[in-house]
Amino acid sequence: MSKTLFLDDALLPGGFARNVRVDLDDRGTILAVEPDAPRGDQAAAAALPGIAIPGLPNLHSHAFQRGMAGLAERRSPTGDSFWTWREVMYRFLAALSPDDVEAIAAFAYVEMLERGFTGVGEFHYLHHDVDGRPYADPAELAGRIVAAAGTAGIGLTLLPSFYARGGFAAPPDDSQRRFATDLEGFARLLDATRAHAGRLPGAKVGTAPHSLRAVPSAWLAAVASLAPEGPIHIHAAEQLREVEECLAATGRRPVELLLDKAGLDRRWCLIHATHMSASETAGLAASGAVAGLCPITEASLGDGIFPGPAYLAAGGPFGIGTDSNIDIDAAGELRQLEYSQRLCLRGRNLMTTEPTESTGQRLLAEALAGGAQALAQPMGAIAPGRRCDLVLLDADHPAFAGAGPETWLDAWIFSAGREAVSTVVAGGRVVVSEGRHVAREPVLRRYRDTMRRLAGRA
Ligand code: ZN
Repeated sequence: MSKTLFLDDALLPGGFARNVRVDLDDRGTILAVEPDAPRGDQAAAAALPGIAIPGLPNLHSHAFQRGMAGLAERRSPTGDSFWTWREVMYRFLAALSPDDVEAIAAFAYVEMLERGFTGVGEFHYLHHDVDGRPYADPAELAGRIVAAAGTAGIGLTLLPSFYARGGFAAPPDDSQRRFATDLEGFARLLDATRAHAGRLPGAKVGTAPHSLRAVPSAWLAAVASLAPEGPIHIHAAEQLREVEECLAATGRRPVELLLDKAGLDRRWCLIHATHMSASETAGLAASGAVAGLCPITEASLGDGIFPGPAYLAAGGPFGIGTDSNIDIDAAGELRQLEYSQRLCLRGRNLMTTEPTESTGQRLLAEALAGGAQALAQPMGAIAPGRRCDLVLLDADHPAFAGAGPETWLDAWIFSAGREAVSTVVAGGRVVVSEGRHVAREPVLRRYRDTMRRLAGRA
């Protein structure tokens, strides 16, 4: 049975249009989009008020890290860095049960929908039981991610991560025992993951060699070939120490090494790509791969600043991800991306290339296109053939007072932010209404119980 929605204002591929009729099939795929549509009697029942934009792809998430919010913000005696944060993260995950992983992920995905994301790429590296042994079902925890995505109603691209070693010349240590597999074990894990993902409509499975620290470059082709149907994501050049270790071990910088050895193309997404030389920036932009930027997490972890203007000028595609999930916010990621550039380069409106271009429009357009490519999902536009994923912004929010289509996106990203998200449609279903997810209450209750128990306060 097909369905029809009526939108007051909607961002279509050619720009904002008024009185837009959207027809979709019973699987939530858009069949037709008609601007300036006449409104008959049926319109009232199917009207979604507000300013409609496509749901955003969140191309990089580690869902369990949502539970770490606030746990790594205390000064340690020896000074803090990404690497001391990672120790806190390893301690946090050491005790998580499958139920815990599902409860935390479901809440993270509910928040993603409430804050403008309708699809997520879950970079999933927590595979084994607490003692490092595979579960009876090697994809037990991937199955919990699929279940959490189903509970929330978010589109899922599941990216099981391959983790072979602890560093450029080190075996995995005890704190990494829940991640590490050999290639045969990883192939079994992927097969079992596919069986879980097959139960969630539209779910895709790709693969994620964790990083050049964790996977020798000579193995990348073998890892990628295990999931030829999906995208390939890898963490790259997030930290200067990682660049130095890569240079020492291989004679090349991380992005340089990937450009030389990995055959980067449109299937690939390089997460962070923070530290690049001018030639790496140009090379990545020309490769067809997406840069997966996580500006809030990169700021939180003290990673550094992506060379945004140079990459954009070279025509490089990018998308955004929430990564550590401590502050889930689609508009906030785009704002942080631009603000990092402003602080670094002491200019304004830096993530643009054209005279008079709106920064908000450009950031959103890039995040939609790059994110959809990186997730290999039919999202990112209100157009026939795409999944009906809509974010409706409250047109009565004060940030939009006196604004029109030419400034709506700037007002949303740089001022109103997540509190303007009123209604969200994912796969044709209304999952957020008046700013609240329809399953927020039970999902939050379970999340609270889980967090209290993990903190020893149950
Ligand atoms: Zn990550």
